[in-house]
Amino acid sequence: MKRHLLSAADLDRDEALLILDTAGEMRSLADRPIKKSPALRGRTVVNLFFEDSTRTRISFEAAGKRLSADVINFSAKGSSLSKGESLKDTALTLEAMGADAVVIRHSASGAPHRLANSGWVRSSVVNAGDGTHEHPTQALLDAFTMRRHLGDLDGRRIAIVGDVLHSRVARSNALLLATLGAEVTLVAPPTLLPVGVETWPVTTSYDLDATLPKSDAVMMLRVQRERMNAAFFPSAREYSRRYGLDARRMGLLDAHAIVMHPGPMIRGMEISADVADSERSVIVEQVTNGVAVRMAVLYLLLSGSGEAPETSENNTTAGTEALA
Ligand code: ASP
Repeated sequence: MKRHLLSAADLDRDEALLILDTAGEMRSLADRPIKKSPALRGRTVVNLFFEDSTRTRISFEAAGKRLSADVINFSAKGSSLSKGESLKDTALTLEAMGADAVVIRHSASGAPHRLANSGWVRSSVVNAGDGTHEHPTQALLDAFTMRRHLGDLDGRRIAIVGDVLHSRVARSNALLLATLGAEVTLVAPPTLLPVGVETWPVTTSYDLDATLPKSDAVMMLRVQRERMNAAFFPSAREYSRRYGLDARRMGLLDAHAIVMHPGPMIRGMEISADVADSERSVIVEQVTNGVAVRMAVLYLLLSGSGEAPETSENNTTAGTEALA
């Protein structure tokens, strides 16, 4: 593993598969009565959240704690960040506290890269979502979930539907799924496809009904109104009519196909409530898998190539056997 995880494009196929396989081991840990491993004892993980989050922040917190790391949660509201402290000064504070990994979410695309490449911190940096740019651990948990249901993703057909323009989830998924050999179709109105999408490793379509019967998984995206500064579609109703997943449309999917959403969902907009709660929906499972995937990422970043992370009390090997 490289020192940081900033983009899904940082991962070659072998690295991505290593994370997914390690996440499989972590997931079995979650099924045991005692969910904790000592693998990252003595390591400090800081969750630095400049933008709101429910799932991702809790997921990283649970992941760090299950590996026995010390986890510090730091959110913009209620800290000196809301007093205007710069990213640099915040980074220097984290460095002074001895953070081994900084998990950062920021509304500015590129903020995690700035932190990783500035020389301000020695820690590993994990991008937990930067602006409209990337969200690599979301893509990893999505791939993990798809592999559990569909097996090897080579040649699998994945439809990613909706507000691609503002979605860091779509970009990270497109990159990672291409690395894993899947065929991605982005389905969106022309106004919600990014400029330059022809350089992405995907095909595009405006026709959801035509895409669904050919898909092994369909990933619905939230309409990100907070990032919209103009009218990108005529009305919510019109959007749902053309790009929402309702029961009729779900009926166009093959029997084995799964329905996904990264959350938070806007029920009734991009996905209807009955679809979100249906048997085909793996949306809640995505959240469970997120913890396992983030455990794998933190573990692989902080313990090097299975080397012993030394602790003050114990300097024995804490490689994968520590997960046993
Ligand atoms: N939770 C995801 C993200 O942070 C998706 C979303 O917000 O719609 O990007």
